[in-house]
Amino acid sequence: MSTDLSTPLQYLKGVGPRKAADLKRAGLVIVEDLFYRLPFRYEDRSRMQPIASLRPGARAAVLGEIKSARLAITRRRGFKIFNIVLSDASGAIRCTWMNQPFLADILQPHLTVVIFGDVRLDSSGLHFLNPEYEIVTDDMSGVHTGRIVPFYEKTGAVTPNMQRKLVRHALDQLPSTVPDMLPEDLRERLHLVPRRHAIEQAHFPPQDASVDELNTFRTPAQRRLIFEEFFLYQIGHAWRRHATSTELKPFVPKVDERIRTAAAKILPFKLTAGQRQAVREIVEDMQQPQPMNRLLQGDVGAGKTIVGLLAALVAMENGLQVAFMAPTEILAAQHYTTIARLLAQSRFRVDMLTGSTPGLKKHTLHAHIERGTTSLIVGTHALVQENTRFHKLGLVIIDEQHRFGVEQRAALRAKGLRPDVLLMTATPIPRTLALTDYSELDVSKITDLPPGRTPVRTWVKPESRRDEIYQLLRDELDRGRQAYVIYPLVEGSEKIDLKSATEMADHLQSEIFPAYRIALLHGRMKSDAKERVMQAFAAGQIHILVSTTVVEVGVDVPNASVMVVEHAERFGLSQLHQLRGRVGRGPWESHCILLYQSPWTDEARERLRALATTNDGFAIAEKDLELRGPGDFFGTRQSGLPKLRTGDLVRDRDIMEQAHREARRIVAEGGLAGDLLQFVQQRWEQQFGLVEVG
Ligand code: ADP
Ligand code: MG
Repeated sequence: MSTDLSTPLQYLKGVGPRKAADLKRAGLVIVEDLFYRLPFRYEDRSRMQPIASLRPGARAAVLGEIKSARLAITRRRGFKIFNIVLSDASGAIRCTWMNQPFLADILQPHLTVVIFGDVRLDSSGLHFLNPEYEIVTDDMSGVHTGRIVPFYEKTGAVTPNMQRKLVRHALDQLPSTVPDMLPEDLRERLHLVPRRHAIEQAHFPPQDASVDELNTFRTPAQRRLIFEEFFLYQIGHAWRRHATSTELKPFVPKVDERIRTAAAKILPFKLTAGQRQAVREIVEDMQQPQPMNRLLQGDVGAGKTIVGLLAALVAMENGLQVAFMAPTEILAAQHYTTIARLLAQSRFRVDMLTGSTPGLKKHTLHAHIERGTTSLIVGTHALVQENTRFHKLGLVIIDEQHRFGVEQRAALRAKGLRPDVLLMTATPIPRTLALTDYSELDVSKITDLPPGRTPVRTWVKPESRRDEIYQLLRDELDRGRQAYVIYPLVEGSEKIDLKSATEMADHLQSEIFPAYRIALLHGRMKSDAKERVMQAFAAGQIHILVSTTVVEVGVDVPNASVMVVEHAERFGLSQLHQLRGRVGRGPWESHCILLYQSPWTDEARERLRALATTNDGFAIAEKDLELRGPGDFFGTRQSGLPKLRTGDLVRDRDIMEQAHREARRIVAEGGLAGDLLQFVQQRWEQQFGLVEVG
């Protein structure tokens, strides 16, 4: 029977309904699924060794005849040992399997088999312990042994051996060419091996392939399949980006001298070069007939807020409304205060709407927003909820955007008529991720910091050195500075953590720093209580703020010069970097002390060390991605990462960059046709498990 890539696996030889069901549960339905689940490891079993040459500790393959076989039952009740004696022209060796009595029916005397595994030596002599075996018959020889052998991840009831056998069967029945969605000129230009060839060699590599290259996924066959997957992913983004660029926005802002003067008037300081460049790029976008879709990246403290505000000013001067969304009430309140102050002399009305805005006030605000008397509305996700209707929403600014769910971002965008969108983030996005989740966005980066900052000094200290830390804290407080003490809130143990944060606040107040005022801030507090504490801290009336991670994003109190992070080993790298960004905002030297409690994992050690050695958010983000893997990088809220079958976002980042370039080029050079077009229109989202991304 002939097979193609879309043949259901149940039609393959040796796959009955039960096995088909097992395969389906493991996500394998058609032949293509099977082929695109690549081996995760390869082992060279091509050279058979003479039995007489075997040495203890080696991993070896031998070919021989079974001379005898015996199933023994040990004194430990029910524990069964199966032994065979295998011989070749040079000698004989014993092979032992623990608790696999069924082997007695399979490995019978006189059969010729290949044995592969670890050679051991103990008091009973040299032997193979639990080796892999393969009976040498005509039809399946050279699948499990006697070659470079593929290893598959076990998924559910589908064993690695079963996959190996199935792949071999399927390949044997596959025609010598298969359809290929990659355009021919692209394949030629990049010297990509033909698809059929790549599939074969990625599973059953030729004898001369390098096992090292295979295990690092660097052979032409593997790279071709990975490129194919990444390219198909990128072509969908490129196409969508192209498609939306033909949608025009109803109001296109213009920038003239009058607006420039108005902007200059509100500026409290001189912009850094990075800020100026970002403003230029954003304002340039805003004047285009297509909606802006831009991500502004800048490390903590780089000064993104003022850049956002200048964009807002351009929109408002053009008679448009602006929504400025922040992830927490504290942050929304802080933005509101800053912005309201800067715009106090302007003719624009600024309001704030959050979840805790009282009902009546909310009602009035909604009316103002709908009539357009409110020009700029700052808020939390309450902005996207229920009945907020805008009059002429022209610009949406989303601060610390990775904290928002994808749906919330999309919902706010849907409130306006194709408004300009500016996303801001202080979590630098590693290049590879920028090419996935954010592939359709344009990116501006602020890489410099406002003048006069001294870099934060970071210390990693064991709990036991607490006294020294308190001394350092006291010195800073005596100099008039303020401090943060941060507690983790681990999901599931909030109560315990909250208790320890509360106890710590009490302890510090009564035992350690009775002369200073200490307050507690955590996510369970009512928002007006939170805000009162935050205001008091900002005003210098509170000296030490003991807090959970609610201060993580955006909070700006320049006089705070020390941060102590308790249980630092529990935090993620990027999160710690964000936290650390709360200090070092004034002209004083600042300290961030990461207190850890043993035992800590090697990974935790590496994390804290990385943080202590660099202040560069981009470097930290790359490291974080490496340590945690892409899935965890943004936490659970982020759902924009593609489901990948062959590629790995960290390992194969160079391939992703190439795929990104090629996809954009092809779309720009004349769009898509045929199979590719059909793919992006009909199958793309499903294949990569994607949802709409902000
Ligand atoms: P982030 O990029 O982390 O959101 P902010 O916008 O909160 O940073 O800015 C951090 C601090 O730096 C604020 O106090 C802000 O007023 C100040 N700041 C921003 N830009 C400049 C500048 N060009 N010169 C001096 N201070 C600046
Ligand atoms: Mg900010």
